[in-house]
Amino acid sequence: MLKHSFSIFKKIIQNNQNHVIVTHWSPDGDAMGSSLALAHFLTKMGKKATVIVPNDYPEFLNWLPGQNKVLNFAHSPEKVQKAIEKADLVYTLDFNSYKRLEGLGKLLENSTAPKVLIDHHQQPDSYATYSFHDVKACSTCELVFDFISGLGQKKLIDKKIAACLYTGLMTDTGSFRYPSVTSNTHAILAELLKTGIKPNEIHSAVYDSYSLNRLKLLGFALNEKLKVLPNLPVAYFTLNEKELDRFGYVKGDLEGLVNYPFSIKGIQVCALFNETDQYVKISFRSKGKIDMNAFARQYFDGGGHVNAAGGKSTQSLKMTEEKFVELVKTLF
Ligand code: 5GP
Ligand code: MN
Repeated sequence: MLKHSFSIFKKIIQNNQNHVIVTHWSPDGDAMGSSLALAHFLTKMGKKATVIVPNDYPEFLNWLPGQNKVLNFAHSPEKVQKAIEKADLVYTLDFNSYKRLEGLGKLLENSTAPKVLIDHHQQPDSYATYSFHDVKACSTCELVFDFISGLGQKKLIDKKIAACLYTGLMTDTGSFRYPSVTSNTHAILAELLKTGIKPNEIHSAVYDSYSLNRLKLLGFALNEKLKVLPNLPVAYFTLNEKELDRFGYVKGDLEGLVNYPFSIKGIQVCALFNETDQYVKISFRSKGKIDMNAFARQYFDGGGHVNAAGGKSTQSLKMTEEKFVELVKTLF
């Protein structure tokens, strides 16, 4: 855990006008929720705040308050470059290595603005000038709440900020069921609910927005693509581009799929390998002490948390699968 003092954060917020918030490649609910919540907060503090994403986020997040003002590097690289050049302070949220930004990482490397890291992933790189980092936090949204609260500005948390934070808390904890959930998480939820947000509406907006195609892809994956390793508590899916095309795959359609095999009694490690036009994208999940962050870092150019990590492979889908089947044995 590395947290600079709130007196330092107070000072840098006070002394800087132009705040830019950047989050990771393929932003998820926590990435978008924490970034937008922080932007709303900074705006209420009288600052200019701009959120930047490296590429598209899933449609089930396109209702979040303020998302229509987000700058997308994949669509508007010049606008993003200008915003970063003009930034007095750059916050990096829900990631801790420029590698997680793909092409956008270069712009941050070249930026001389001080960097504020707010994140809960393992093993941060050393680019940050100021940190608010804790791997024990269930989500970056939990940290953004604690950040605002620590600055003595909890009163500024309104319905918009609460909706953004609730979304990230919910999506990063599997709807409040992972071991990362603590009494602090629930105390925060109670505070957020007091603003008048409706949890059922947020759950519905995120989880009841599937397309028919997505549901059929889930059925196909469960029925025909799930493999359970003999004699090991390991289950995984592979999906190639052709299979994804068949179901009109769009970003977000595989969200959550990797966790399904945990409902089989005894399964301790799950993985999902899906082919993209550039590489095989990999998701790892585990139960208990089995460290998927270390596994992803060591063998698959990735990282994340102990129980949830990701990575990539430039080998073929088949070779990646074979490599995994060989290496996963070392976890037991
Ligand atoms: P997911 O499997 O949902 O894409 O990601 C699981 C966790 O691992 C998330 O917290 C995500 O930020 C992290 N993660 C996913 N892919 C990568 C990667 O390629 N590199 C690193 N360092 N972390 C990743
Ligand atoms: Mn997160």
